[in-house]
Amino acid sequence: MAIRQLPETLINRIAAGEVVERPASVVKELVENAIDAGAGRIVVTTAGGGKDLIRIEDDGAGMDEADLRLSVERHATSKLSADDLDDIRTLGFRGEALASIGSVAELTISTRQAGAANGLRLAVRNGVKSHPVPAAMNRGTTVEVKNLFANVPARLKFLKSDRAEAGAVTDVVKRLAMANPGVHFVLTGSDRAESNWPAVTGEGALGARLAQVVGADFAENAVQLATVRHGIVVAGLAGLPTYTRANSLSQFYFVNGRSVRDKVLVGAVRAAYADYTFRDRFPVVALYISIDPAEVDVNVHPAKAELRFRDAGAVRGAVIRAIGEALAAAGFKASTTVGE
Ligand code: ADP
Ligand code: MG
Repeated sequence: MAIRQLPETLINRIAAGEVVERPASVVKELVENAIDAGAGRIVVTTAGGGKDLIRIEDDGAGMDEADLRLSVERHATSKLSADDLDDIRTLGFRGEALASIGSVAELTISTRQAGAANGLRLAVRNGVKSHPVPAAMNRGTTVEVKNLFANVPARLKFLKSDRAEAGAVTDVVKRLAMANPGVHFVLTGSDRAESNWPAVTGEGALGARLAQVVGADFAENAVQLATVRHGIVVAGLAGLPTYTRANSLSQFYFVNGRSVRDKVLVGAVRAAYADYTFRDRFPVVALYISIDPAEVDVNVHPAKAELRFRDAGAVRGAVIRAIGEALAAAGFKASTTVGE
């Protein structure tokens, strides 16, 4: 049996499996790109649970023709400077999303930079890109993804119902909106009733965004977190011990502006409420950690949803303290001392 080099389009399709699991992962990648491009307003439209259509419109910086051509190539990114994986400040950095999406869906990108005479549109079909053609549009970028996984039947079969996939898209957009209160989000399309969360800025912006996205009753039944400990900033809202849910779906964790799943944070919240909440009840929390990027490794998971803290104990201690102190200040007194 002879070894042969796989064609580029097939390599991309195989790699796509790591980045693009379902419609929600496409939405996450594209909205993160819009945020990285400095968008002030992002419109997310889906149909057929995102399988038929995903469209992300932003009013960000846009791309010139050379960047547009490069954007759909694998490992092409404008974001990783001086090959420094220890200092990642943008949401993207692998340069893999657009190439991956283009190999498993019909991808069309329209983009226009400020001052450009016109916009440009590039299409990728079966992993092969077209020449950019002029397009009439305002400043920003619109990415359209149609017939996701039509050429990967095994992956298509694995997807859940349109309703469930649309729900996963909603969850992803909610988290991105919670992490970026200064960005106006619209979530629309035939899959759903429209959500419209105008930008909020200044003091109280975070609380206002959480009220928009999680609900006004959460904001009213929560204490504000604002502590710094060993250089670890803990902010956000922690629900009162009397305001709990039957599952952990309403616990939201962010580290340096990125929504994450992390056992250290989940464990710290559980410990912080151990004296207050009943078994099998979960407090509602939106926890925002800011920490020196060098203290976190975000490169452990292809979708970047997981991370590793260099000093997990310090993070755990900071979270337990922040919540414990805020609850105590609100009159909830722990029966035992909460702390490290
Ligand atoms: P990454 O985000 O990891 O760099 P992507 O494949 O998601 O990789 O995007 C490749 C490049 O395309 C980005 O680095 C950026 O320069 C450009 N790009 C993608 N989406 C947008 C957008 N919405 N607005 C402006 N530039 C974009
Ligand atoms: Mg990206």
